Amino acid sequence: MSSPSLKQPWLKPLLSVCILSLLAGLPAAQAKDAGSRNYQATRAYYTQLVSGDTPKLAELDLLMTMLPKGGDIHHHYTGALYAETYIDWLGAQGYCVYRDNDPAKKQQQFRVNTTPGGAGPDCLKADAIRADNQFYRQLLMRWSDKDFANHSHQQNPPDQQFFDTFGYFGPVSGFSTNQGLRILKQQAKAENLQYIETMLKGSPAVDNAALAAAIDALSPDASQAEVDAALTPFYDFLSRDAGTKKQVADYVAMIEGDAAGIDDADFTMRYQSYVVRLLPPAKVFSMLYTAFSSAQSSKLIVGVNIVGAENTIVSMRDYKLHMKMFHFLKQRFAQVHLDLHAGELAVGMVPPAGLQFHIRDAVETAGAERIGHGVDITHEADAVQLLAQLAARKIAVEINLSSNAFILGVEGAAHPVSVYLQHAVPIVISSDDAGVSRNQLSGEYVLFASRYRPSYDTLKSVAYNSIRYSFLSAADKAAQLRILDRRFARFEAEVAKLAKSQGWAVKAGARN
Ligand SMILES: [Zn+2]
Repeated sequence: MSSPSLKQPWLKPLLSVCILSLLAGLPAAQAKDAGSRNYQATRAYYTQLVSGDTPKLAELDLLMTMLPKGGDIHHHYTGALYAETYIDWLGAQGYCVYRDNDPAKKQQQFRVNTTPGGAGPDCLKADAIRADNQFYRQLLMRWSDKDFANHSHQQNPPDQQFFDTFGYFGPVSGFSTNQGLRILKQQAKAENLQYIETMLKGSPAVDNAALAAAIDALSPDASQAEVDAALTPFYDFLSRDAGTKKQVADYVAMIEGDAAGIDDADFTMRYQSYVVRLLPPAKVFSMLYTAFSSAQSSKLIVGVNIVGAENTIVSMRDYKLHMKMFHFLKQRFAQVHLDLHAGELAVGMVPPAGLQFHIRDAVETAGAERIGHGVDITHEADAVQLLAQLAARKIAVEINLSSNAFILGVEGAAHPVSVYLQHAVPIVISSDDAGVSRNQLSGEYVLFASRYRPSYDTLKSVAYNSIRYSFLSAADKAAQLRILDRRFARFEAEVAKLAKSQGWAVKAGARN
């Protein structure tokens, strides 16, 4: 999704200042009228782009790049950076990448060797990779979803391709988190995004074999009382253990160090800690404890999440157990916000029974305030009742159209985003892993607008939801909403001007 508008951002200060000062110089009533006319003109212009047999994709691309998008609140830090950055970081760290498979030497093609002095004919440094165009292209295809769908080559299943990318770039991704955050901030500003809530780094695990045994022995169907009984001794240990306290303090200090200098007047970043659902139960629980504990102790860590492919044997087996662990900790850390990946599943990926309870358990057992993906909602038991509950409790669902299409094969009319809208469940549009998907948030909005053709008011409300349902403090949220108001006033003034230059004129008060 490249667009000339990225190179010449519409937010060029000069234009914006002119428009704002013009509005500012007007009496309040006149400024309000002008704002209202701009809104109407923008609504009419957008409506014609999504009307007719075929949405006007190129014009929508321009408009969605310009659109103030508020926040991106389903965002994985390592999956957001493009592979090209990781190749730069490979060079900065002096690592190399294996050229071919060689089982005898335990070498796997495209994997990183971090051994000092490991480079040679079998293992290429960054410069050698860039000098070999064919290998470079192949590497990008393995470290991201690039050319998966438009190029014939030997392929793994798409969900495996997607999740495997993290293993490929993983060894280099820790190079400079602050630099990575700056790259993401720059991209955010280029597409009129003011806030990111990113899953930055997994929280630390604590080992205690004696106390872990009872947790690892739990049946996946254990009752909440049985789970609580197994968790309590380990929880009591963790909450008193000096080593655990230090691990939490170090983790918080690391996140706060990574975040240094990122926030400014135009951009804010907040962080979620997370656990990986593929690990043994006691390890997951210890990570959950440190995740909750760090979120409670740092203003920058605003919530807890759970990540990893939801359809693996372990993820499916332990799902209910994980939700009960969340329930246990939520009783002890009531203020900590929960945003859980749930329902990132599709028909055929797992047996039908596996599609029937993940979202409900995330909400009713774990206490999730937001749901990541929620794609299998239509297969949940008593789905209509669950949808009503999500709407009534204002639990937002994070819609990630590119990654859902790639990993799950769910897209177009089959995606339940339309069902969520029909049932008044709040949704946000988010990117998930823009670097892996080789997309950007504006591109996700293009997919949303062109495929589902929401009204302008719905589109705008979805952008506002990304701040409304963020885990910012009440004061920070109010401040970000005021910033978004100003950005929309500028955007609508700019689009009204654009529409007029193209011969569009909307009568005051006209509706469409
Ligand atoms: Zn995700």
